[in-house]
Amino acid sequence: MLNLVLFGPPGAGKGTQSEKLIQKYNLVHLSTGDLLRSQIAAGTELGLRAKQLMDHGLLVPDEVVIGMIENKLRENQSAPGFIFDGFPRTVLQAEALDQLLSHYQAPIATMIALVVNDEELIRRLLKRGETSGRPDDRDEATARRRVSVYNKETMPVADYYSQQGKFAAIDGIGNIDDIFQAICQKIEESRL
Ligand code: AMP
Repeated sequence: MLNLVLFGPPGAGKGTQSEKLIQKYNLVHLSTGDLLRSQIAAGTELGLRAKQLMDHGLLVPDEVVIGMIENKLRENQSAPGFIFDGFPRTVLQAEALDQLLSHYQAPIATMIALVVNDEELIRRLLKRGETSGRPDDRDEATARRRVSVYNKETMPVADYYSQQGKFAAIDGIGNIDDIFQAICQKIEESRL
């Protein structure tokens, strides 16, 4: 089993690179943002509550996203591996993920972090907002709040994996295929 965390701020390119990784490694893509947006689209109570936080660029409670991941792991027990995209976003989520994966004897192989500076992120998010239809991409104040929430609440997750010797940083600015090659190289190194 190959379990990867694709880490980085909003707008770093996690979604784009995840698509390429799932094709190459045949992994199941678990994006908590996508899972939450499908709850919103389905009009569930969980979705309605999450939407209020998401539209303001704030994190939804840990237990909500941990519960969703737990369900997906249970549903996909024969998967060759998972790519976690946008999760974990807090240290508590990272600890919960380690615990969940211990039931399957399939720990995280490595965390790949895409590094992009704040101003480039804001530029990318606002550009995506022109076509994505996502309320949280549309205005600059919300985009800035998401980047600031990342810097405060999510950055410590990098230290968590680094302490386990499972952290690899990649420059997230440049050609999409070059970035993909750099990610694949780190994955191969983690499997040696
Ligand atoms: P994303 O699509 O990953 O940018 O996520 C969009 C929004 O969903 C975030 O701004 C949060 O409000 C919420 N969200 C997604 N993943 C998580 C998570 N792991 N923990 C808390 N909130 C999350």
